[in-house]
Amino acid sequence: MEVIWKAKDFGRSFKNPVLTLGNFDGVHLGHQRIFQQVCRKAKEIGGESLAYTFAPHPVQLLKPGQEPFLLLPISERIRLIGEAEIDVTICAPFTQEFASLTAEDFVRDILHRQIGVRQVYVGHNTSFGKGRTGSVSLLKEFGKRYGFVVEAMEAVEVKGTLISSSRIRRLIRQGDIPGAAELLGRPPLLIGEVIHGFGRGSKKLGFPTANLKIDEVLVPQPGIYAVWAVYQGRRFPGVANLGWNPTFQDHKFSIEVHILNFDKDIYGQTLRVEFVERQRDEVTFRSPEELITQIRKDVEQAKKVLGID
Ligand code: ADP
Ligand code: MG
Repeated sequence: MEVIWKAKDFGRSFKNPVLTLGNFDGVHLGHQRIFQQVCRKAKEIGGESLAYTFAPHPVQLLKPGQEPFLLLPISERIRLIGEAEIDVTICAPFTQEFASLTAEDFVRDILHRQIGVRQVYVGHNTSFGKGRTGSVSLLKEFGKRYGFVVEAMEAVEVKGTLISSSRIRRLIRQGDIPGAAELLGRPPLLIGEVIHGFGRGSKKLGFPTANLKIDEVLVPQPGIYAVWAVYQGRRFPGVANLGWNPTFQDHKFSIEVHILNFDKDIYGQTLRVEFVERQRDEVTFRSPEELITQIRKDVEQAKKVLGID
């Protein structure tokens, strides 16, 4: 997939472009459904499939200082859009200047003149443009004026539940990983660089943990989780601890993964952690020995959850 990090002036033209527009945070099943439709239509008319998205998230620019709420860093959002087989992702830097474009400016100057869009698919509750005044019905009007077709996609349901990024955020905050995975159509994940901690995992406990430095994204409820750790394209079973390490009174939140059957120095490398199930709360133990006993149990339980022996 080609990625263009610009809002406009793309330096190339597009062939019969079929486009979708949105934040696509989480790239959940609803988003995936839209991408499928875009790709199908593009094939049908011999055109290119495009996703037009933004970073940072508009809320980060317009209402700074909020708790991290994004489900994915932009790099993962783009990787997953690529997996959905979109030809081109345009990632517009969401600046004050960009935020001040009216809905009509955006459609006329960017979608129509610069992209030459033929067909647009959007979610039924899409809004865009300055003050979020652009709606599906307005987009349809512009479509008539500028010669493109607009189709609004129905909200996707899973077992009677409407899929939305905010519902998924709520499930992840509550530690309901299977619930979130069902709406995402993939496991919830964190990705980051492996950094140095206190060096205690291997020396003191006999369970080294890769400590992660992550971007500003939503973190699942603190606790112990069964996970898959993906390192250089290979998947390893693991146990993750999200918390404050109260047994050692760290008072610093950390995200750590003990990878099973693994013995490599991976400091400075990127690790992707796919969450499978929450196993227990983080608790304070009276001694490191008690903690070690519990970690052994956690490992056994994670193996069961992950279906390995
Ligand atoms: P730190 O406090 O710096 O995280 P640890 O004692 O927890 O130190 O050791 C973690 C490091 O050990 C990891 O960053 C990784 O480079 C290495 N390592 C070796 N084996 C493993 C394993 N099975 N799981 C996680 N990390 C491992
Ligand atoms: Mg560690």
